[in-house]
Amino acid sequence: MKIAVFGTKPYDREYLNRANQQYAFQLDYFKVRLNEETRELARGHDAVCVFVNDILNQPVLETMADAGVRLIALRCAGFNNVDLSLADKLGIKVARVPAYSPEAVAEYTLALILTLNRKTHKAWNRIREGNFSLNGLLGFNMTGKTAGVVGLGRIGLATAKLLQGFDMNVIAYDPFPDEVAIKAAGIKTVPLHELYHHADIITLHCPLTDSTFHMIDAEALESMKPGAMLINTSRGALIDTQAAIRSLKAEHLGYLGIDVYEQEGDLFFEDLSEQIIQDDIIQRLQSFPNVLITGHQGFFTREALTAIAETTLTNIHEFAETGTCKNLLTKAYLA
Ligand code: NAD
Repeated sequence: MKIAVFGTKPYDREYLNRANQQYAFQLDYFKVRLNEETRELARGHDAVCVFVNDILNQPVLETMADAGVRLIALRCAGFNNVDLSLADKLGIKVARVPAYSPEAVAEYTLALILTLNRKTHKAWNRIREGNFSLNGLLGFNMTGKTAGVVGLGRIGLATAKLLQGFDMNVIAYDPFPDEVAIKAAGIKTVPLHELYHHADIITLHCPLTDSTFHMIDAEALESMKPGAMLINTSRGALIDTQAAIRSLKAEHLGYLGIDVYEQEGDLFFEDLSEQIIQDDIIQRLQSFPNVLITGHQGFFTREALTAIAETTLTNIHEFAETGTCKNLLTKAYLA
């Protein structure tokens, strides 16, 4: 198999090369992402290997089909960046890494919550400048407060367990609940509007689909407790960012912690420190003292990178041997 691997950084290559020792696939690494401008690079390959911000839309998929590419191997769990129904029509299979390390993202979610609450990022800066004042660093005890987990899949469940470890009252919403896992974890499920109404901290762990696009809109924000904390480590477009900005300005939303952002494709994973950022929305968000933004690093642990590389190459190996693999996105995932 000849595989065009898009959007790669040194760490991707390191972990993929290590996992490839047992397969010896031809991995052609490209720094650029796969999109309409770079699609011709897919020619001459049996498969493309992509990540969260590559864009596999109609022109890209049609070029791939024309070039004889048979497999899209996603190095991630989410697949909102692939037109699945068109890939299916064109006979291109799509495989993903469904569960490389839910704990990596769950633990990162807790990092965002604790940082926003106790303001360790601000304290670190202050102390370096000889400022030992505590003014403005006041936090709240998480023990006894209510956490609302939206989406109780692998990451949501792992996050709920960590929040329970803080003696929080954990409530959750999931339209397709795994009753056995939820009961075993002792989590109470509630309708979404109740979760918004009662939770002091709301954390999003559902996929981005047509039905979850902008699920956190003005109405949802309005129904949250004044001063609530909203955390998103799933996909940026779950939140209507403009509505969140209005709620922050109105001092209704108390804290916002995001590891993902609607327009992150133009920004994240790149060093833009010497450039003028053209995105006024993220710049406005940055200006709030109660907003914490990170650049999609929830997955970024040694364990997760190892699992991503190994599962991605196992998917490709299974496909090469049998024409299918257990992590294919089947028709059930088509919108
Ligand atoms: P999962 O498939 O195990 O769980 C998703 C859950 O969301 C399922 O239980 C599903 O029933 C539920 N769901 C579907 N529609 C919903 C809705 N409208 N409201 C509430 N819940 C809904 O997925 P996962 O592995 O837990 O991953 C969750 C998301 O985290 C992924 O879709 C991905 O976007 C994101 N993610 C982010 C990072 C990161 O680095 N920040 C890394 C991995 C995954």
